[in-house]
Amino acid sequence: MQSPTISLNDGRAIPQLGLGVWQIPNDETTAVVRAALDVGYRSIDTAALYHNEEGVGRAVREGGVPRDELFVTTKLWQDRHDDAERAFDESLRRLGLDYVDLYLIHWPAPGQNRYVEAWRSLVRLRESGRARSVGVSNFNVDHLERIIDATGVVPAVNQVELHPRFQQRALRAFHEQRGIATESWSPLGQGGVLRDPTVGEIARRHGRTPAQVVIRWHLDSGLVVIPKSVHAKRLRENFASLDFRLGEDDMRRIEGLDRRDGRMGLDPATFG
Ligand code: NAD
Repeated sequence: MQSPTISLNDGRAIPQLGLGVWQIPNDETTAVVRAALDVGYRSIDTAALYHNEEGVGRAVREGGVPRDELFVTTKLWQDRHDDAERAFDESLRRLGLDYVDLYLIHWPAPGQNRYVEAWRSLVRLRESGRARSVGVSNFNVDHLERIIDATGVVPAVNQVELHPRFQQRALRAFHEQRGIATESWSPLGQGGVLRDPTVGEIARRHGRTPAQVVIRWHLDSGLVVIPKSVHAKRLRENFASLDFRLGEDDMRRIEGLDRRDGRMGLDPATFG
């Protein structure tokens, strides 16, 4: 089984289902990523902030899958918005790679007001070929409009908090207009949404698990999705979301779980 891909606005493509490695200690990360590669994952999402780029890089280099079949994402932390090219070099060195597939500005940190400068650096990194695609994370519409107006370059991806209880409809509509792929972080609501009775009922009817139903909802919604797990059994379970479909009615019912106060993480308008 292979993940389908989503086309990006720069002519490249990203696997729709990948693995997120936030909160996995560096010394455990190589084993988790290797297990994920064995299951069939080809996309790994890390960040300088996660302090596990070394572990990811080792698995990418030694996991037995050709580098050009893998998609590696890392991110720029906001203490380096004014020094992004050097921060990127340090990430590449920790990864032990000579390019990444996607480099993201992790948060806009509007209080610092340096994300336009950071975006100019990412555009240069893409031109150098060392970041094959560039994008952002946690950008609201106003942040996106500012970097696009300043550079004329539309990010390939915006990675944002997105799960059935926080569906980001307005932001997704803007992404669609501008050709930005939406990538869902905390796609399982960090596990919480798996206890939702509607999700449970749909799962039982399909003979699937709640995690599979939620991941399938992301896939059928055209989103890129990066659920995290460290357990081989769950890595397999989550990857097996690829081999079934939800019905129209299931999709509508999950869409009905969206809540105004569903955000779990930080608010990009005020963080940083
Ligand atoms: P998630 O929504 O992927 O939930 C992960 C948790 O769900 C696991 O720790 C486990 O407790 C549970 N889980 C996973 N599979 C399960 C299964 N099959 N059955 C039952 N429980 C299961 O949460 P996340 O780690 O916050 O998000 C995923 C990834 O998104 C991260 O690892 C990271 O790569 C990325 N992320 C990015 C940002 C950002 O600011 N850009 C922020 C948070 C996360």
